[in-house]
Amino acid sequence: MRYSQMLIPTLKEVPAEAEVISHKLMLRAGFIRKLTSGIYTYMPYGLAAIRRVENIVREEMNRAGAQELMMPMVQPADLWQESGRYIKYGPELLRFTDRHERESCLGPTHEEVITDIARREFHSYRDLPVNLYQIQTKFRDEIRPRFGLMRGREFIMKDAYSFDVDDAGAEVSYQKMHDAYNRIFERCGLDFRCVEADSGTIGGSFSHEFMVLAETGEDTIAVCNECSYAANSEKAVVVPAPKPEGVELQEMSKIETPGKRKVGVVCEFLNIKPSELVKTLVYLADDEPVAVLLRGDREVEEVKLKNHLNVTDLVMADDKAVFDATGVPTGYLGPVGIKIRLIADQEVVNTPNFAVGANEKNFHLLNVNAGRDFEVSEVVDIRQITESDPCPTCGGTIRLVEGIEVGHIFKLGTSYSESMKAFYQDSEGNEKPLVMGCYGIGVSRIVAACIEQNHDGNGIIFPVPLAPFQITIVNLGLKDETICQTVEALYQKLQEAGFDVFIDDRDERPGVKFKDADLLGFPMRLTVGKRFLESGQVELCRRRDGLVQDVSPDEIVSQVQKLLTG
Ligand code: ATP
Ligand code: MG
Repeated sequence: MRYSQMLIPTLKEVPAEAEVISHKLMLRAGFIRKLTSGIYTYMPYGLAAIRRVENIVREEMNRAGAQELMMPMVQPADLWQESGRYIKYGPELLRFTDRHERESCLGPTHEEVITDIARREFHSYRDLPVNLYQIQTKFRDEIRPRFGLMRGREFIMKDAYSFDVDDAGAEVSYQKMHDAYNRIFERCGLDFRCVEADSGTIGGSFSHEFMVLAETGEDTIAVCNECSYAANSEKAVVVPAPKPEGVELQEMSKIETPGKRKVGVVCEFLNIKPSELVKTLVYLADDEPVAVLLRGDREVEEVKLKNHLNVTDLVMADDKAVFDATGVPTGYLGPVGIKIRLIADQEVVNTPNFAVGANEKNFHLLNVNAGRDFEVSEVVDIRQITESDPCPTCGGTIRLVEGIEVGHIFKLGTSYSESMKAFYQDSEGNEKPLVMGCYGIGVSRIVAACIEQNHDGNGIIFPVPLAPFQITIVNLGLKDETICQTVEALYQKLQEAGFDVFIDDRDERPGVKFKDADLLGFPMRLTVGKRFLESGQVELCRRRDGLVQDVSPDEIVSQVQKLLTG
């Protein structure tokens, strides 16, 4: 490929709209152009990188025995009503009606469509197991599309679905995908971790996420420093500290705390630590008020709370909703005498003599003890793990790191096959529900994640497997026949050796060409210019570490091979 024949509209300035480095570099390197919020055109060079990812994904999926198909993007609402997700999926599902007033939606994922295929096509245990996948554009009306391809509304996903006769079979299918995903992300050259994950709205019992480690990641991962435990913080199990022994329970008393509502302010006023206060937060769970008790220095993990409540919608109640539900102004709520459903984090019941709101404006209670001063029947792990919590598996120390979710695998079980009546006949002729799994990879997000991990001040540093071209040849003598002939000969030779090669044949100053080569992230740059005429040597420069060597054209292929694979 020649620069003069490829549309790569690079930019000198950093576009103001971009916050994270991958988004900035993708715009600057002419990878993508925004059409509207969360919706991008993949320009030729960006698409070439996406194709690299797709090829790796496709090869490994095929190797794992999955079959590629392609399902429609427009889906009838009926199917989603059958599965029960038409309402449950929430506003990310873009719904519309066609000219015949038929309700439809744009596929954010394809469990419904594939289960419809399965119930029509798989009848007997002899048809199973099957794993079907596609690489396709998805649409999710994300509330906050941002970071370019990282969180788009339209994006490319690989989604796969497995069908088995029983749980044991489904576990084999799951493990195959687990292994395939590890190979895929390794082949992409990414620094990633596989972590235990929450199963979310997709339903199901068991799941893992594949996280690319990067500071700009939107997920937090809890990793054990001693054992292999790694979990999304949404899922990470908090082991409560045991009840301290020998602490005498003090008598509960009421104290005036005029105008003191926030944890920090109350603690300062009462001269206690936030860990000695219990805060009472009110949520609206599918519009029903629920009070949540948590130590003052802790944060609620809303995913855990949502799972416990088994609701679709969970929001913090505003001041008015709090007052309407409890008759108490925000800041003075407490568990003693509260009239709404009460859920306590497990740590609260082990904390002696804490302070809480008195359910009365301008008053708090001191020396409150769960069980003695109020009853709480729902004691649950609902808080975010911290670095001072122990590892739930080995008791070791926990470290929190940021990650970008690039893949997610789920054991779905029979929830879709039962609701949508996808049954097969076992060897004894009994009707049984298909046991399913589903497996996603964010193909376009991988390119963004890769750039987050592989860049420097000058631009992208592509890992060899994802580079659209592994080598660029910078021609600095467009008018010199010897130079042009050498460039063409190298181009031929390197392509014959299996490389994807690019030539910068533009009539531009050397500085511009070098800057663009760095920005576009070619792993290797060859320069043929005046110096070649003098010395007969071509300059070779490795992008990742700036290693420079002068090499004669005869040795280029072997030298490039050595430097790119070594
Ligand atoms: P997230 O928590 O980031 O919203 P998700 O759990 O909704 O992701 P899945 O439903 O598991 O994602 O989708 C499979 C994969 O698709 C994800 O692992 C992710 O890599 C990718 N993905 C999901 N949403 C987006 C998006 N808005 N833009 C780009 N890629 C996405
Ligand atoms: Mg999502």
